[in-house]
Amino acid sequence: MSSMDHNLKKYAKLAVRVGVNVQPGQTLFVNAPIEAKDLIRKIAEEAYAAGAKNVIVDWNDDIITLIKYKGAPEEAFSEYPMWRAKGLEELSDNGAAFISVLSPNPDLLKDIDPKRVATAQRTASSALSKYRANSMSYKARWSLIAVANEAWAAKVFPELPIEEAVSRLWDFIFEATRVQLDDPIAAWHEHNARLREKVDYLNGKQYRQLIYKAPGTNLTIDLPHNHAWLGGSKDAQDGVMFNPNMPTEEVFTLPHKDGVNGVVRSTKPLNYGGTVIDNFSLTFENGRVVDMQAETGRETLQHLLDTDEGSRRLGEVALVPFHSPISNANLIFYNTLFDENASNHLALGQAYPTNLQGGAGMTKEQLAEAGVNTSLVHVDFMVGSPEMDIDGVLEDGRREPIFREGNWAF
Ligand code: ZN
Ligand code: ZN
Repeated sequence: MSSMDHNLKKYAKLAVRVGVNVQPGQTLFVNAPIEAKDLIRKIAEEAYAAGAKNVIVDWNDDIITLIKYKGAPEEAFSEYPMWRAKGLEELSDNGAAFISVLSPNPDLLKDIDPKRVATAQRTASSALSKYRANSMSYKARWSLIAVANEAWAAKVFPELPIEEAVSRLWDFIFEATRVQLDDPIAAWHEHNARLREKVDYLNGKQYRQLIYKAPGTNLTIDLPHNHAWLGGSKDAQDGVMFNPNMPTEEVFTLPHKDGVNGVVRSTKPLNYGGTVIDNFSLTFENGRVVDMQAETGRETLQHLLDTDEGSRRLGEVALVPFHSPISNANLIFYNTLFDENASNHLALGQAYPTNLQGGAGMTKEQLAEAGVNTSLVHVDFMVGSPEMDIDGVLEDGRREPIFREGNWAF
């Protein structure tokens, strides 16, 4: 077996056992690009070995996506195949697990009208809202992993010959997901335990506010009562552990949707659905974005903010030390799965109800009352830097350092 084959087999096993943690009799749904076929075949083998009843694979292809954006009539982008949306809803209602394999091409849609892309995204988000609600309340177990491709590798390593770039990107993916270690599964259990320590510390504090200071950033974020920090593995509603993101380095909770004030500056490019938004800043008043600036991708950012009322508010606040394995690589991946794990970040849009104690069982009205944001989108953007300080304000008003110069202060 080649070393690539060997690593893919370990990666597949990790995704099945630690990512979605497939249980006997469970159906596994895999959403994957055609480039990932070698990995997906191994995932199918591992899933059946873990007792899966059925493995269903839904293939996609960037080139077909691009051909559609170029050639299809306008009305095609406001129509979503409802059989697919209903199918995903039914699978997630009935206890299936979901592995999504990303293989981004950061510049795929750079020549396409941003309005077309925004319409397509809005249509998909709205058709898939029930399925997404099941995912975000951890009713279904899901996991996101990535595979390398030439376009992505060329963007991350522009100076390298393409074959070398692809192999470097694969090495990095295997390193960041701990696949290169002898026992990746044991390594993930240890990693999850380390993240759990930070989560427990922050949950014990119940800070009522976070104060961010960095060049271009001066922001306060109120946290709702009974907010819950999460990180690493999660417990699904059925009590079975899973890891939604591989890699993951973050611990995160939710801001109060009406309690964000000040200005925050991005520190890494954001790839939003095939278009890059870069060097931007957002100004908040009572939770709402009231002003924005962007050097690159301004129109795309505007469309994102205009998606709905909730897309102008924050749904996630996440802490990642500047000295973390992905950050130390000092690369820009133009993909959130990697870039968000190199940097403190925030997300516009939908919050995770599970970031509130008892939130998964609350009605829409109860969640809104508690300060939980609702939106068709959830988009992480990176704000961390080695200059970032964050304080936590305790219930009695005392301030404590959480981050100093980009790293944990406790
Ligand atoms: Zn995040
Ligand atoms: Zn997020």
